[in-house]
Amino acid sequence: MVKFTLYILYISKLIQQINKQIKMQKIIIIGSGPSAWTAAIYSGRAQLNPIVFTGAMSAENQAKNILPMGQLSMTTEIENFPGFPPTGEVGRLLATAITPDRIMMLPPHDEGQHGISGPELVELMRAQAVACGANVIEDDIVDVDFTGTAGAVRKLTSGSGKVYETQTVIVATGARANWLGLDSETKFKNRGVSACAVCDGALPRFRNKEIAVIGGGDSAVEEANYLAKFASKVYLIHRRDKLRASRAMEKRALEHPKIEILWNRVPTEVLGDDKTGVAGLILKSTLGYPDLELPVVGMFVAIGHTPNSHFLKGKLNIDEKGFVIKPIPFRTNTSVEGVFTAGDVADSHYRQAITAAATGAMSAIDAERYLASLE
Ligand code: NDP
Repeated sequence: MVKFTLYILYISKLIQQINKQIKMQKIIIIGSGPSAWTAAIYSGRAQLNPIVFTGAMSAENQAKNILPMGQLSMTTEIENFPGFPPTGEVGRLLATAITPDRIMMLPPHDEGQHGISGPELVELMRAQAVACGANVIEDDIVDVDFTGTAGAVRKLTSGSGKVYETQTVIVATGARANWLGLDSETKFKNRGVSACAVCDGALPRFRNKEIAVIGGGDSAVEEANYLAKFASKVYLIHRRDKLRASRAMEKRALEHPKIEILWNRVPTEVLGDDKTGVAGLILKSTLGYPDLELPVVGMFVAIGHTPNSHFLKGKLNIDEKGFVIKPIPFRTNTSVEGVFTAGDVADSHYRQAITAAATGAMSAIDAERYLASLE
């Protein structure tokens, strides 16, 4: 009997050890946008066998606007990612920008095959990461244990309750769209109220109808331009008398025949009924003029983003807006040793696919060097 008990104890200890060996990782990446996939490509190529937690495809995440594959998966054609010129431009650029001796070395160009959309680009990044050795888990990380100093094992709890141990972590969870916070806005979500023109703009309810975009930044102008393809008219409603958007974007909005900017106004109520959805907006003047009722069938909110850092509160230094703080300029370190960050979750300024990808590469290199320093 004693022999049997000892045997059982030995076996369970062995299983525990094996489990620990299976679960202990060199690197875990949280996120599924350009920063996460680039970090996975770099760390995969460095033989670190990264695990990527993409987030879960759940109704809860959909409601919070944080579905996997990030914001890039909600955009249209990408025009500013190097190496992917817009459709129709590739042939011209190849012919004019590359010397004939180098052109000779390239395969024949098929114009119809080029130009890339946001969803295509991020899917390619994912496929490339997997090809480089990344292991993908489609689940959320809901809690982290970052206690201990340099070299300490970091523990991550997934949505399914499993605890993963790792030597390094890259937080690349991105950011999500902000809302105005009106009750009527919530009431009419998916019935005329949206924060994603690319996802919803082509719906029949908006076709050849008048709609509104709220905001004055690059996102608002981009959304207004996109929506003008379908709508008969797009009102861009901004709370000040000057757009925050870049000059080039501003010019696009001002010159577009279907876009009209309503300055110094903010929506205070979304009008409509349960059956047909949005029928109009009440717009308050920020200068004290009387309210305006605008008969539109849609409201697209484009007023900035909030970083997806809720699960890091109290575990890592984040600023008042939720952005992960990087204490060392031009590095991807966070306030916790062995935990690095990349992309929009730590970037309130640039927020571009290319800058996210760049910091993803940097974070993987930083993590690799940290691992080497431990050995
Ligand atoms: P921004 O923070 O740049 O702009 C948000 C806009 O929403 C501002 O005009 C702001 O007004 C307005 N706003 C904020 N809160 C409210 C509110 N409660 N009610 C009404 N209006 C409100 O966010 P974006 O998402 O537009 O852009 C973020 C970053 O991403 C920028 O750096 C931008 O350049 C970049 N970007 C670049 C693109 C491109 O190059 N193609 C496309 C999209 C984004 P106010 O101006 O008064 O503060």
